[in-house]
Amino acid sequence: MTEKLSSDLEQRFLDVEENLKTVRERIAEAAVKSGRTPRDITLLAATKTVSAQVINHGIELGIDHIGENRVQELEDKFDSYDLSHCELQFIGHLQTNKVKYLIGRVSMIQSVDQEKLAKEISRLSEKQNLTTDILIEVNIGHEPNKSGVLPQNLYELVETVSLLPGVRIRGLMAIPPAGASEKETMNYFLQMNQYFVDIKSKKIDNVAMDFLSMGMSADYPQAILAGANLVRVGTALFGPRNYNR
Ligand SMILES: *Cc1c(COP(=O)(O)O)cnc(C)c1O
Repeated sequence: MTEKLSSDLEQRFLDVEENLKTVRERIAEAAVKSGRTPRDITLLAATKTVSAQVINHGIELGIDHIGENRVQELEDKFDSYDLSHCELQFIGHLQTNKVKYLIGRVSMIQSVDQEKLAKEISRLSEKQNLTTDILIEVNIGHEPNKSGVLPQNLYELVETVSLLPGVRIRGLMAIPPAGASEKETMNYFLQMNQYFVDIKSKKIDNVAMDFLSMGMSADYPQAILAGANLVRVGTALFGPRNYNR
C-alpha cells in the first residue's frame, strides 16, 4: 500500500515537472510575441484541491507564486506549505467575515469587488500595522451572480478604495465568462487591458497598476497576448481536479 502510494506520488511529481516546463515555454512564447520578456510575466499556480505535498514539490521546482481560492482550504493547508521562497495569494470569492483569516498570511488578495470588503481588509490590516496589496476584480462579462465589480462601477470603486489606508491597489483581475468563444474571450481580455492602461494613466494616489491578472489553463497565452502579466494556472500544472477526495 505504502509503495503504491509513493510511486503514484512520484509520478505526480514528474507530471508537475513536465507540465511546468510546458507552461513556462508557452508563457515565454506569448511574452515575446507581445513585446515583453518571460520575466515580465508572473505565473501563479492555482492550488485548489491539490495537496500541500504536491504544491511544495512545485515550489521546489521554482514556482514562486501560489493562489488559494477558498479560505477553509487555505486554513487546512497553510501550515504545510513551504513559503520561504513563495508568495501565497488569495484568488477566490471572499466574504467580509472571512477576511480575518487572510490578513498577514497572504501577500495579495486578488478578488476585491466591493467597498465593504476593501474596508474590512483595510481595517484589519491597519490593526496589524500592515498594508495589504489587492487587485480589483472586474465582472468583465456582466454575468449575473458572478463576483467582480461591473465595468461601469470600476472607476468609482478604484477611487473609493484608493482612499483606504490599509490597502494598496496593485492592479486588476478578471475571469471572462466560461462559455465564451475564443474570440469573445480575447475581446474581454482586450477590454480589461484598456481599463488597466487607462487607470494607470490617471496616476491615482495609492493606486499602482502593476498587475493585470487574467488567463487560466485554457487561455493564458491569449491573455498574455492581450496584456496580462499575471496568469493563474491550475489544471495545466496539476492535472484535472478531483473534488471527491
Ligand atoms: C481554479 C482557478 C484558476 C485556475 O483554473 P484552471 O482552469 O485550473 O487553470 C484561476 N483563477 C481562479 C480564481 C481559480 O479559482
